[in-house]
Amino acid sequence: MHHFVYRNNELYCEDVPIRKIAEKVGTPFYLYSHATLKRHFLIFNEAFEGLERLVCFSAKANTNLAVLKLFESLGSGLDIVSGGELYRGLNAGFSPDKIVYSGVGKRTEEIDYALEAGILMFNVESLEELELINKRAGFLRTQAPVAIRVNPDVDPKTHPYISTGLKKNKFGIDMETAIDGYKMASRLKNITIVGMDCHIGSQITESKPFTDALESLKNLIDELRNIGIQIKYMDVGGGLGITYNDESPPHPREYARAIVDSLKGLDLHLILEPGRVIVGNAGILVSRVLFRKSGKVKEFVIADAGMNDLMRPTLYDAFHAIAPVKKTEDEQITADVVGPICETGDFLAVDRKISDVKKGDLFAVMSAGAYGFTMSSNYCSRPRAAEVMVKDDRFHVVRERESYNDLVDGESLPPFLDD
Ligand SMILES: *Cc1c(COP(=O)(O)O)cnc(C)c1O
Repeated sequence: MHHFVYRNNELYCEDVPIRKIAEKVGTPFYLYSHATLKRHFLIFNEAFEGLERLVCFSAKANTNLAVLKLFESLGSGLDIVSGGELYRGLNAGFSPDKIVYSGVGKRTEEIDYALEAGILMFNVESLEELELINKRAGFLRTQAPVAIRVNPDVDPKTHPYISTGLKKNKFGIDMETAIDGYKMASRLKNITIVGMDCHIGSQITESKPFTDALESLKNLIDELRNIGIQIKYMDVGGGLGITYNDESPPHPREYARAIVDSLKGLDLHLILEPGRVIVGNAGILVSRVLFRKSGKVKEFVIADAGMNDLMRPTLYDAFHAIAPVKKTEDEQITADVVGPICETGDFLAVDRKISDVKKGDLFAVMSAGAYGFTMSSNYCSRPRAAEVMVKDDRFHVVRERESYNDLVDGESLPPFLDD
């Protein structure tokens, strides 16, 4: 359920006609619905009602400060994967003791930054990282709270690029080595063991991979208890999928029930790191048709948004529905919706049956709230799109469209070019 709906054949976001925003802001732009963001967060959080838990929104899905601030005000914590995301999180007002830090490649400066901020825990992904965190915590005369990210070797049955819990993936520490990791951690002076973590992948559309992973982790928790190592937090990661096309992922309540059943009797404090399921369907990308072109074998809709704005179609072969901002009676066409970039991979949809949008028409790329703007780039020196948030009948530009000046900001000419 989201708040992008047609009224009199015109697409609205809550009570604002999208056409109006396009006239004011230009295209392309990302558009987020406040009501949808809020609703999705609350449904997810309330699915775990009655349990000790902390929902840590996964920043990398959507790091806009307004989006982060909204979740913070609803009681969310934050899952970060970089110093930059920590900076954004603190900037948005998150209390450091609600921030968890994952990622295989944490740099010394990033570790120091997180230690100084006083985050809830580091999700450690290698033995070398564990040693480095211990060393930096010692240097800063503090204790580092850690969980070990365990790779449970389960197949999440999603796109290979977003599977993270298989033996061959770079993430986490395998089950056998994890025991050694915990033993090692228990001997390190500046490490406090607080939890266990796993995150097996993204856009997962059934409960079984999650519960399979937890079954494995339960054995590990038993083994740890036998050697006197107790954990407080069980971080089950994110990964719950959404409907882009015809997927039918479990409802958050169903997902919660599966997880809670798996962990019954263990007396653990749950941490969850949802990203896509909260923001994915709460955002769209709005673009204008620049031209139409009939090729010998294909019909092309050439749009002013491209792969630099939304990378998912070309990166993952991802499906995003294409919806006209103004519905017409015209018969549908089958076309490739492509961007202006000089790459054959620059498409938003391929061989897609869509409404007959013409030169100058606006259309929406649906379900673009997660991994949309955050993955965008300046390729082909294209200024990144604006981001807009709607609440009821109001809208606000939460990130301005970049300017040409932004594109060259920070570049400088070396004096030796004048030699
Ligand atoms: C990306 C990521 C998430 C969020 O994944 P979603 O599929 O968007 O829910 C959670 N935890 C970690 C460690 C991640 O890298």
